[in-house]
Amino acid sequence: MSTRAFLRGGAALVASSALLTSGLSGPASGLSSTASGAGGAASTLRDRTPEPSPTATGSGGAVSSVDAEASRVGLQVLRHGGNAADAAVAMASALGVTEPYSAGIGGGGFFVYHDAKTREVSTIDGRETAPAGIEQDAFIDPATGEPYPFTPDLVSSGVAVGVPGTPATWEAALRDHGTWSLRKALAPSILLAAKGFRVDETFRSQTLDNAERFAAFPDTADLFLPGGDAPAVGSRFRNPDLAKTLSRLALLGPKGFYRGPVARDVARTVQRPPVAPDADLPAPAGSMTNKDLAGYRVERQAPTHSEYRGMDVYGMAPSSSGGIAVGEALNVLEGFELGSGAGLARSLHLYLEASAIAFADRAAYVGDVPDVPVETLLSQDFADSRACTIDPEQASERPVQAGALDGPGGGAGPGAAKGAACETMQHEEKPDTENVSTTHLSVVDRWGNAASYTLTIEQTGGSGITVPGRGFLLNNELTDFTAEYDPQDPNRIEPGKRPRSSMAPTIVLEDGEVRFVVGSPGGATIITTVLQVLLNRLDLGMSLPEAVAAPRASQRNTATTPAEPGFIEAYGTLLEPFGQELEPSGDAFTSQAEIGAAAAIERDAKGRLTAVAEPERRGGGTAYVVKPRKR
Ligand code: GLU
Repeated sequence: MSTRAFLRGGAALVASSALLTSGLSGPASGLSSTASGAGGAASTLRDRTPEPSPTATGSGGAVSSVDAEASRVGLQVLRHGGNAADAAVAMASALGVTEPYSAGIGGGGFFVYHDAKTREVSTIDGRETAPAGIEQDAFIDPATGEPYPFTPDLVSSGVAVGVPGTPATWEAALRDHGTWSLRKALAPSILLAAKGFRVDETFRSQTLDNAERFAAFPDTADLFLPGGDAPAVGSRFRNPDLAKTLSRLALLGPKGFYRGPVARDVARTVQRPPVAPDADLPAPAGSMTNKDLAGYRVERQAPTHSEYRGMDVYGMAPSSSGGIAVGEALNVLEGFELGSGAGLARSLHLYLEASAIAFADRAAYVGDVPDVPVETLLSQDFADSRACTIDPEQASERPVQAGALDGPGGGAGPGAAKGAACETMQHEEKPDTENVSTTHLSVVDRWGNAASYTLTIEQTGGSGITVPGRGFLLNNELTDFTAEYDPQDPNRIEPGKRPRSSMAPTIVLEDGEVRFVVGSPGGATIITTVLQVLLNRLDLGMSLPEAVAAPRASQRNTATTPAEPGFIEAYGTLLEPFGQELEPSGDAFTSQAEIGAAAAIERDAKGRLTAVAEPERRGGGTAYVVKPRKR
């Protein structure tokens, strides 16, 4: 079938089967000849996939994500000769199908990659970008002169939609590191969208949490509230429109999304959010144009780098604050002896203090601006001077002030943190509404390449606005900007700028080889989750499965520390003598007390792999290895 005939005809299932046939059964795929037809390929994808489990150990490559279907797709790509980049793109696209409220082509993300051959770590910043026409006061309601109420007005708006970066990220990841075409890498997810997947508790409850605002957008209601209700657990959820949109992207490449009819539909939807006439939702319009979409480009900047316990920790540079905050906190902790047993309470106290410091500096200095002092913030000198401000026995008075960049030793001296210059540098954080949105996937392949990829549409359900006839939700990522303009604020709204993120896809190398791949969703808690998983594993004597499962606390420079019930139960009393006050995590917007949903992989010096997903959070994730270890 010619491309034109396909685009005209548009029968999604036929198209996706055709793609699958031409994609996965090609000579490079390693598929056996018995799997040459579309049905054969599809059933081969299903075959030999072990029962989903949150932990897998073995060799030959590993994947981890919050979703069994996405992890299965990643496993199959690795089995059929794909490398870590191929598997990551295929998994991300599958997550866009099965986790449409967390990720998808309407959003953005950050991709960190370790190339085993060159031993280099590189990144792709596929963050959503503010349109050229955005005004400084875009988030101010002209009717009141005050910022729009965060919810429901701003979160379900056109004005908060950034130009999506995810389709361009996939193309860039495959171009830079992949061995598969986009066409081949997207084939499994096209089939998944067309054939459908089984609705689980998480999908149903996320739909119900969003039901009110989804109902306000008829296209969203048609797709996600068929018959007026969230799809029942156990039913099959199909998204033929998404299958078609993905097919278009697969066949035409990024121009199938950023130009032509899909781009036009996206721009029109942002400029005129298709809200039901009787809906009580203002849905302020955005300014995004076809030109904004056609002009979208990923950024490829150097990863952040810090050293911890003799290992090299790589993460995302701005526009994400993730790499800097994780790296700085680790540097602050580097000078302390941490451990389980008698030292456990003190270690946790220090973890909370280091995290508060990193968040103070993040707020003052990090955003999508040209002059972020990345080098200083990640220097050991700066971290040491910040560590000096920690009392190992007593919680700081929070919020702690940001460190001065020109203090002794290139950083803030012990007193500098209280300097007058720092006091103007605190900026309001947006309401904490982000416990369960976003998604992360980790991959290591048989060659030792690794991908750590966090992607999002911001809130669970993004803007709540489905692009009519295209099967995907638009993000509301621009809510990550500070709402009120302040020229000193590194996270101020500006045309073409990317809102500051907390996403922290991380790769840890030892002697130039991948040792850990880790990341998580969770808004600003992403930083503390990644930090805590690493500390649990490297300092507190836990195995990787234990490190991921352990209860979490997230100190983000506030007086008290939000923590999961399990953390409060286990450590609340132990931390009291340090003056660390814990409070239950969760907020008015989410019913969840969970912090994050990590997906991680460990590779030991002999190449043995332990892939780990959440055993419980978000309903549990799935990890696979290509060659499971025999028990
Ligand atoms: N918008 C968030 C960020 O970039 C991610 C959303 C979330 O994880 O809740 O940091």
